[in-house]
Amino acid sequence: MVTVGAHVSISGGFDEAVARQRDLGGTVGQVFVGSPRGWAVKDVDESDGAAFREAAAEHDMGPWIVHGTYLINFATPKEDLAEKSVRCVQGELDACSTLGIPYYVFHPGAHTGAGEETGVANVADRLSELDVPDDVTLLLENTAGKGTTVGKTFEQLDDMVAQSTQTYDDIGVCLDTCHLHAAGYDFRTAEGMDELVAAVDEAIGLEHVEYLHLNDSKHPLGSEKDEHEHVGEGEIGEGGFDHFVTHEAFADRPMVVETPADENGYAWNVEKVRSLAE
Ligand SMILES: [Zn+2]
Ligand SMILES: [Zn+2]
Repeated sequence: MVTVGAHVSISGGFDEAVARQRDLGGTVGQVFVGSPRGWAVKDVDESDGAAFREAAAEHDMGPWIVHGTYLINFATPKEDLAEKSVRCVQGELDACSTLGIPYYVFHPGAHTGAGEETGVANVADRLSELDVPDDVTLLLENTAGKGTTVGKTFEQLDDMVAQSTQTYDDIGVCLDTCHLHAAGYDFRTAEGMDELVAAVDEAIGLEHVEYLHLNDSKHPLGSEKDEHEHVGEGEIGEGGFDHFVTHEAFADRPMVVETPADENGYAWNVEKVRSLAE
């Protein structure tokens, strides 16, 4: 049985996120702890934490994950933006700890012309500034590679950790299937899936892939475009997801969908993942 859920809103309180997840049939889930397009981290106090923990435990849900705001850019050459980003990530990591949420994921960012190598080194420097709480693991998300974003390849993700003062004790990786496809990793055949797993294992180590984002891709292999489609209905297709969610390398990892908010809805996608995993 796979553990799968969806990204849900926290409006009305963190315990409301649990109720929403239950309604759509998920057993794990993802939330933002602020506005996804703002810098403000929501004030999270002990009573929010207790309410969330209690609700999640009551419905036997977890592990949850927090997604960082989209403004964060650790790869930037601009010091002021980098400083804001580090402060924001630190605030969101601390909120995770208060909520009892063991995972935090964010996109490393874009070098905006400084060059890939500099971008990766910048990410490493800013990771080094963080104090990751003992009960939280920070996950780097692989990217589609659009524009000057870094983190498209497994080697780049590993370099970010290796060049920082952090270790894989506190840091891991979250793989997004849409981003993998857009970045040119083809797992639509069983052989392709095996090659993908081997590449992850060689560059990062399979054990450091701790969470998965399951989204299909609206755009073709290698397009570098990040636009999500319903599971099985995009360019990856049902076959690709079948390989991905049944591969022994990933089958026991928590998975969340971040699919389009239209008629199919999250419940449909969660159910789709379950049926493909059977
Ligand atoms: Zn993401
Ligand atoms: Zn995406």
